[in-house]
Amino acid sequence: KFIAFEGADGSGKSTVINAMFKEFHRNTEVVREPGFTDVGEAIRDILLNRDLDICPKTEALLMASSRAELVNSYIIPRLNEGYNIFSDRYVLSSLVYQGISRNLGINEIREINNFATSGLKTDLIIFLDIDYETQLRRREERKTSDRIEKEDAKFHKSVIDGYKKIYDLFKDEYNIVKVDATKSLDQVIEICKKHIIEIGGK
Ligand code: C5P
Repeated sequence: KFIAFEGADGSGKSTVINAMFKEFHRNTEVVREPGFTDVGEAIRDILLNRDLDICPKTEALLMASSRAELVNSYIIPRLNEGYNIFSDRYVLSSLVYQGISRNLGINEIREINNFATSGLKTDLIIFLDIDYETQLRRREERKTSDRIEKEDAKFHKSVIDGYKKIYDLFKDEYNIVKVDATKSLDQVIEICKKHIIEIGGK
């Protein structure tokens, strides 16, 4: 099964994925976006470089490039071998960050990502839903911020609202489940585990 974990910065994706990997590690591979492959990590370095001023279309295409490399060189072969793939972000991130927050349009971002991924869809998306105040608190606890995390409050709020909007639009088509990320980590982990087992992840 191919499962993506989605949510705004500070929603706890990485922590939850690590915990899920402990549960399902026998036949599961974990990947992250942008990045993971050698080419993808090089693209990530450009994307998150605080000294670069990147125009929104370039950002969208670089995100899609990193994804193309990951899907075609890694995810598809592993799925064919019978592994689960747990991905820290996938196309939904681009619909929100580039489509909504960077104002490039949801359909436009869907099109370039269809091309990039050869149309590969996830079996399940776990959306970790967080409010702005909780996010701000968690972001402030972190010492560093990348090019995108250093954006202003308006941008971060548009991401948080963007996720809710995309969830409402696509929950059936993309099989998205919304999990309240302000709950305790133990609770979030139990809920995620249940959803993964439900779709046949093992
Ligand atoms: O999830 P992670 O923190 O590794 O993502 C790196 C950065 O890239 C974050 O600041 C995230 O908000 C941003 N990002 C983005 N558009 C995407 C994926 C990630 O702006 N499609």
